[in-house]
Amino acid sequence: MNGARVVVTGGAGFLGSHVCEALIGAGAEVVCLDNHVTSTPANLAGLVDEPGFSFVSCDVSDGIRVDGPVDLVLHLASPASPVDYLRLPLETMRAGSAGTTNALELALEKGARFVLASTSEVYGDPLRHPQPEDYWGNVNPIGPRAVYDESKRFSETLSSAYRSERGVDTGIVRIFNSYGPRMRAHDGRVVPTFIRQALAGEPLTVAGDGSQTRTLCYVADTVGGLLAMAGSDHPGPVNIGGSHEVTVLELAERIRSMTGSRSRIRFVDLPENDPRLRRPDLTRASRLLRWRPRVRLSDGLAQTVRWFADAGIDGVPAGQR
Ligand code: NAD
Ligand code: UDP
Repeated sequence: MNGARVVVTGGAGFLGSHVCEALIGAGAEVVCLDNHVTSTPANLAGLVDEPGFSFVSCDVSDGIRVDGPVDLVLHLASPASPVDYLRLPLETMRAGSAGTTNALELALEKGARFVLASTSEVYGDPLRHPQPEDYWGNVNPIGPRAVYDESKRFSETLSSAYRSERGVDTGIVRIFNSYGPRMRAHDGRVVPTFIRQALAGEPLTVAGDGSQTRTLCYVADTVGGLLAMAGSDHPGPVNIGGSHEVTVLELAERIRSMTGSRSRIRFVDLPENDPRLRRPDLTRASRLLRWRPRVRLSDGLAQTVRWFADAGIDGVPAGQR
């Protein structure tokens, strides 16, 4: 990436800010586009004074303009947590449709490689386990989660069409649940929610009976996989995710014990269409990208708990502290 000029849409978000940092660390020049709909400028605090970094405040669904050459477009702009996309259903669909079109048009105009941050949600509530990339998924197109799942499915189709019809060098990564520092305490995703609750001594809200599974990937590993895809010429899709599958109840118990919390577990209603099982088949990532996750769940959770504890997460929503 040394010397490359990279546009990162959604670069102020949880994953995006880590991607920007990794790119700057690798000697790239980064143009970060974001409207902060689901993030705060604090995520970019360590970047704004870097000479190779610039921030452009814009809604990518309205249009994207970047002057000068661009070697790579990483398209991450989209609400990603269920709480966010259920609060912002139409914005989410616009980010997936108009936003992805605009990001692909930028890549076309500049002759840049384009990488889409897609998601394991394209598999929906999967009927195959673990999920290989050739599994087509099981998504309810009018269910509550569909605004996100179908937007990403559309984004994948659009990327493939720009590849075949316009010759854009596209790549698709399907990212599975990632976690780490800079997740928002109130974004509703399972790891920050349980950590916030455990640190505050509040009950940990386990959905259903907690037997549903997720495979968690530490952010540094996810960023490594995304950038490995960016540096290749593979179209994908390639799964990027963790290798250690846990039930949600087991995760709650682990976080409770590692924080020394006396919080109890409270079972709450399972959200509609909540996937039962999720684990990536990582054969393709390993074969094509020579990538595999390295950070153990216990180490990644410890780093994340430490960050939340240091950040003084106190149950007050970001922006109101
Ligand atoms: P996030 O909400 O922290 O980051 C998304 C960023 O995109 C935010 O900074 C937000 O303000 C910005 N954004 C949203 N809509 C925008 C628009 N129209 N114009 C400009 N900026 C906009 O979420 P994240 O977890 O960092 O996810 C980043 C990307 O990775 C998303 O595309 C998401 O679908 C994908 N992804 C993430 C995960 C995960 O576990 N974190 C898993 C699968 C896929
Ligand atoms: N979950 C939970 N309690 C919470 C938040 C989430 O039990 O406070 C569950 C959720 O129902 C799902 C899993 O944890 O089964 C992962 O949820 P998350 O929103 O993090 O990601 P996704 O469902 O998109 O995989």
